[in-house]
Amino acid sequence: MKVLRNLNLIIRPVNDLCNLDCAYCDAKERYSRDTISRVSVKRETLKKLIGDIGTSGLKTVRFTWHGGEPLLLPDDFYEDVFEMQAGLSGVEYPNTFQTNGLLLDEKRILLFKKHGVAIGFSLDGNRHEHNAYRFPDKERFEALMANIRLAKKLGLRFSVIMVAHDKNVREIGKICDFMAELAPPNGFIVSPLFLGQGALAPLTIRPDDFSEFLRTLYDKLELLPGLPCNYVYAVKKGLGGGVPKMCFFSGRCANFVSINGAGDMFSTCHENSRYFLGNIDQASLSELLKKHLEVYSSEIEPQFAGRSIYREMGGDPSLIYFQGKGCTRRLVDGLDPYFRSYTDLIRYAQKKK
Ligand code: SF4
Repeated sequence: MKVLRNLNLIIRPVNDLCNLDCAYCDAKERYSRDTISRVSVKRETLKKLIGDIGTSGLKTVRFTWHGGEPLLLPDDFYEDVFEMQAGLSGVEYPNTFQTNGLLLDEKRILLFKKHGVAIGFSLDGNRHEHNAYRFPDKERFEALMANIRLAKKLGLRFSVIMVAHDKNVREIGKICDFMAELAPPNGFIVSPLFLGQGALAPLTIRPDDFSEFLRTLYDKLELLPGLPCNYVYAVKKGLGGGVPKMCFFSGRCANFVSINGAGDMFSTCHENSRYFLGNIDQASLSELLKKHLEVYSSEIEPQFAGRSIYREMGGDPSLIYFQGKGCTRRLVDGLDPYFRSYTDLIRYAQKKK
């Protein structure tokens, strides 16, 4: 039976709570003193979780602090977390925060730098217009840019996470030039805007537009080799005989679980009640992870009906490292709508090789 040695733990310490109200986000609970005290994860819950990690046999646990906005919690909360983590022996525990960046300041940046934390800033391009789904006013866009520049000046490791949508999809060339100038130390990460079947669905980026976007991105980054980007890096890695880091290219989805402010754990990187595993206050992490692997193989994986990028592209031995099946988060009738965009990009890169 498969046993996990490396785990990606997505923690949503304040659930959906956020200080922004992005048009493309369906998390609509707004910040207030009252809501934050109600939904925040308890320190005892994290103490139990981290204690369990120490006895689980895991070698690496990547903590990704996600939201809502994880920086709504104060510095002393995270100082306690870092102290708890420091008690782990024989386990690596890198921390990354995915944030809108507005609640950072010099003190916080220096705290994170001291503890080796990396930040992923959400930023959809170099102009306010590219970020119109995120910031209704230019002031907040400028405030984020100032904080990114401060993080850079103070030597904090960070990446930039860009959602591709109709307001920036045709500007990727210029956005790449901007990213190259900014030179995020951990590169830049692209994600297509996909909003399922709900009221926000019309904002979803069309697969053909995303395919074209990826080809333009690939060509542009050939001219900017010092700028790492998740899609291009994953394709080159896979074609070069290595496992692509990106989960839905390599088939590493089973290494991800998520946990919310109540300590509830789910068998996916996002909260989905269908894949609820149990609560960390009431069960050991080892029990929950055992259940996770069962849920993954009996309920999640079968939805892909044996599909993988490798098989779909004809089982060419040079593509053996592309064992990904697409993303569980975006499944529509068993198919990630951008699956063709991935195979198109790999073929495009193969031709250019
Ligand atoms: S749900 Fe998608 S993004 Fe999340 S780990 Fe799985 S493949 Fe990756």
